Amino acid sequence: MTDIIQLLPDHVANQIAAGEVVQRPASVVKELLENAIDAKSDTITLVVKDAGKTLIQVIDNGMGMSHTDARLSFERHATSKIKSAEDLFSLHTKGFRGEALASIAAIAHVELKSKTNDSEIGTHLTIEGSEVKSQDPVVTPVGTTISVKNLFYNIPARRNFLKSDAVELRHIIDEFHRVAMAHPDVEFNMIHNGNDVFKLPASNLKQRIVHIFGRKTEEKLVPVSEETEILKIEGFVLKPEFAKKSRGEQFFFVNNRFIRSSYLNHAVSSAFEGLIKNDVHPGYFLFLEVDPKTIDINIHPTKTEIKFEDEHAIYAMLRSTIKHSLGQFNIAPVLDFTHNQEFDTPYNYSKKIPQMPTIEVDRNFNPFVEKNPSRNPASGFKSGYAGKGAGAAWESLYIGLKDEDQSEVKLESMEFETEEVNAELFEKQPFESGQSSIQIQNKYILAPMKSGVMVIHQNYAHQRILYEELLKNITVKEGISQQLLFPLILNFSKPDIAVLIKVREQLENTGFIFSDLKDETVSISGIPALITENHVPDLLEQLIGAVKEEIPEDSFSQNDMLAKTMAASLAIKSGTSLNAEERENIINQLFACKEPTVSPMNKNVFVVLETESLDRKFI
Ligand code: ADP
Ligand code: MG
Repeated sequence: MTDIIQLLPDHVANQIAAGEVVQRPASVVKELLENAIDAKSDTITLVVKDAGKTLIQVIDNGMGMSHTDARLSFERHATSKIKSAEDLFSLHTKGFRGEALASIAAIAHVELKSKTNDSEIGTHLTIEGSEVKSQDPVVTPVGTTISVKNLFYNIPARRNFLKSDAVELRHIIDEFHRVAMAHPDVEFNMIHNGNDVFKLPASNLKQRIVHIFGRKTEEKLVPVSEETEILKIEGFVLKPEFAKKSRGEQFFFVNNRFIRSSYLNHAVSSAFEGLIKNDVHPGYFLFLEVDPKTIDINIHPTKTEIKFEDEHAIYAMLRSTIKHSLGQFNIAPVLDFTHNQEFDTPYNYSKKIPQMPTIEVDRNFNPFVEKNPSRNPASGFKSGYAGKGAGAAWESLYIGLKDEDQSEVKLESMEFETEEVNAELFEKQPFESGQSSIQIQNKYILAPMKSGVMVIHQNYAHQRILYEELLKNITVKEGISQQLLFPLILNFSKPDIAVLIKVREQLENTGFIFSDLKDETVSISGIPALITENHVPDLLEQLIGAVKEEIPEDSFSQNDMLAKTMAASLAIKSGTSLNAEERENIINQLFACKEPTVSPMNKNVFVVLETESLDRKFI
């Protein structure tokens, strides 16, 4: 047999390596930012277009590269950071593999401009798919600008695999935060599609955290500081009352490199034991410094995992240091166990004593007919959105409110109120057909009023109705489940499953029952009564996207965001034909809402065309 083994050409080897180094635009951002830090820059600007799919550019004012180094930097295993294997154990730089630029150049169009302090003129290099296209002298300031365009242009499968811009941008921002937090003395700027996203002046760690996470963060921080022979700890934890259901604000840095460690996370959580409830996670920004000899950061290509020589000692020290800080800053005595942040939503149902809300939530009230009919409202809306099972959606809108409705209700006064509204607002006999409303373009519901005509946007109206219901379910854990005959098994990526785990409890409150949720699979044995089984995959996909997109400083709580996303996903769409009963149900439900005028996304739900203004049009 003839010999069959041959060495792969460089550009193929680089493409394969790129698979490991570059998973998505955010990976490029991380590598380029880290290179800029390693080059000792004090101002770094990240420019991104279309969430990095079109352009990722990093401009630094660091040491720059010579003509030859610029060319070499794109070779595989080309690095200025280590020379021998021993150097691996005294690393003080972010990079050391010499792989990033070679990998990036294999799968994108790359342009580099660079100049060192001691050279007169800079160098300008263009590379496409590992092939050098040009290298010319150029006038450019000291430092380096690298532009990465059309990422994955030659690997369509990878390009198609990218998520929505919102999701990819979220990942980019995460990487940006991690590098920026580890280097508060460096000025960082980020621009996306021409807009300033972050402007972080050089400052200290506390100010950097505040610049990133918002002014309110400052008062939540408890400083942590400790130094022993084997370990130095600096940073902040969030006061226990700001512990969250989600793991959003948890950052470990070891020797200024962001890492993940469930082991160290456990150490922090155990320091909070007794101060926070079991189901919430403390927030922290912790910087550990150890002798580089005692760690091995080489176990993962993207370098967010780490191995410590003396894990147990570090665990114990971290735990006791944080306990000490919490004690020292008098956190324990001011703890308020009765305050449950989960209920910090626009609707504080948790403390609500059922007292006269019945006037607002009179289910039988139909403002469009003269008499209040004694029909059962729950029997309405048998068809409509999302095909089968929509009836259940409407019925479930009543569940959980019934008790409230019936307790402490003075029927007379309620009737009186509703008659008043009825008499005041709406036409007595709007249409000859006896119907109280009509639908136009399968989009708007028109209902004549005494003063004119009301035009209701059916989709926004239903969003409002579902939103209030879902928000209540999530906060008071009242969602009704429908059991599935066979469990619904869905596959997601690991990070997506992690997102679901994060919001698991809230989803369960809406009525989801997860029999299994781990690795890359979710097995669902019950779903909210509000939805149909075939809608579940889409809904979860949308929820995952929404959770990932959630921008820090967004004033809405996670509960609110989940309720909004679910409402938007489930609401009847424009283009759906509604029968008289369905229209009535929408109207009744809408005016039983707390905020019937605006949709959860702040759109007008209805407008009123006043007769007077109509009259004026005919003069
Ligand atoms: P590594 O960072 O692991 O060394 P890279 O492929 O990221 O590998 O970079 C290769 C080399 O290119 C670096 O070692 C460094 O010498 C040089 N380099 C990369 N980016 C910059 C930059 N922004 N400024 C100066 N030199 C850089
Ligand atoms: Mg590098």
